[in-house]
Amino acid sequence: MANTDHDGWTRVRGRLRAEVGDDVYTSWFARVDLEGIEDGTVRLSVPTRFLKSWIQSHYAERVLACWQGEDAKVGRVELIVRSAVVRSAIVPKLKPEIAAGNDGANRYSNGGGRPMSVGDPSVHEALGGSPLDARLTFESFVVGRSNTLAHAAAKQVSAARRTDPVMFNPLYIHAGVGLGKTHLLQAITWSGNAAGERKALYLTAEKFMYGFVSALRTQTALAFKEALRGIGVLVIDDLQFLQGKSTQAEFCHTLNALIDAGRQVVIASDRPPSELESLDDRVRSRLAGGLVVEMGSLGEELRFEILKARVQAARSHHPSFDVPLPVLAYIAKTVTHNGRDLEGALNRLLAHNKLTGHAVTLEMAEREVRDLIRPQEPKRVKIEDIQRVVARQYNVSRSDLLSSRRTANVVRPRQVAMYLAKTLTLRSLPEIGRRFGGRDHTTVLHAVRKIEGLVGNDMALAEEIEILKRQLQE
Ligand code: ADP
Ligand code: MG
Repeated sequence: MANTDHDGWTRVRGRLRAEVGDDVYTSWFARVDLEGIEDGTVRLSVPTRFLKSWIQSHYAERVLACWQGEDAKVGRVELIVRSAVVRSAIVPKLKPEIAAGNDGANRYSNGGGRPMSVGDPSVHEALGGSPLDARLTFESFVVGRSNTLAHAAAKQVSAARRTDPVMFNPLYIHAGVGLGKTHLLQAITWSGNAAGERKALYLTAEKFMYGFVSALRTQTALAFKEALRGIGVLVIDDLQFLQGKSTQAEFCHTLNALIDAGRQVVIASDRPPSELESLDDRVRSRLAGGLVVEMGSLGEELRFEILKARVQAARSHHPSFDVPLPVLAYIAKTVTHNGRDLEGALNRLLAHNKLTGHAVTLEMAEREVRDLIRPQEPKRVKIEDIQRVVARQYNVSRSDLLSSRRTANVVRPRQVAMYLAKTLTLRSLPEIGRRFGGRDHTTVLHAVRKIEGLVGNDMALAEEIEILKRQLQE
């Protein structure tokens, strides 16, 4: 293949990344390779069929347009699946650190010669599996625009069999509070264990830490690691709470060992891997190497559907409980926050209905859920969005902002973007520096001070910044 093809491909990838954003890019395009270009047809390869069909149905036109932006002669983009590397899931190869200190004789047993399995209650205890809520299944999960992708990926993971090649590993789902992360993770766990195909273990990050710490203390660390090896799907919730150097190191080993053995790892967190500040760089990059999906906030329509489903479920226990649709529509419209508040609102109506015997009406609903109605929360502004909006405003590219170029037309926008990142997000200076092409925190501080100083005197700049802020926050 000609070198120019490669350069073209690099530029096309740059365009794609700028268009779809880092998360989408990493999720779907990071593992796309260029196979060749012939007679106006570009051949790209991906590692799995799922990736192929997903890109084809969602991004085919984008990809083609990006190519045509670089090379007008390109008329067609063809996707093929690279020959899959099927990893044996039956005899996993151990990472040295997991096998360390374990002699061959008792490798598959628990001291007493009895093989361990996750079904074994003592192991479950050792592993500290977190309790599951029987209601959090795929059946009760309502799919809407904000969670289609996460749901599709979760389904895919739970439908996979032990011998199937792993499609994306780890699957990393992030979203704000109450948007359904735990629901989706437990659904994966339930369905994995119900099918009996791939045993799934659900652990909160806190349980994971606790499990390791207590196992280390009671000298059962090996048994703990052994048991972890026995599972098909490891599900870790609320990863943002994982703390401490040694736990992180253990987590990293576990992650590597499971992934290399072809086991599925699923993770949820309230932020993307790039923003898990206290996490070791190696862990972070391993996490970002799988599929990273964000779930957005629940739209009104989705809230309405969730409420309807909830009332249906409640009626199986309380047949007389009836909530008129206008009441549901009212709650869906006004209780804006998250799934938990929706549940809370319905619980109140149910309680009121049961205790007083009064039918649920709009007036009653208005009274009961008054304190759950909160003003619109300010939007969570992302550094990525700041970079995109600023780049557009000043007519530079996002990669210019991240580059080391020091020409005036790039320096000022870069400083503005850093200033906005500091004032509109809760990110620290070092974190912002890292997100701006790996700069030092003092550079960020300098930029922030510089802009702060300028807006006092420069009306035009002050106004520009106000407009940018408004765009980002609306
Ligand atoms: P998170 O873990 O993201 O904070 P949860 O999974 O605990 O959020 O969800 C909070 C509540 O909202 C739960 O009762 C959950 O069942 C409900 N919920 C969230 N999203 C959905 C959805 N798409 N369909 C049905 N219920 C949902
Ligand atoms: Mg949760």
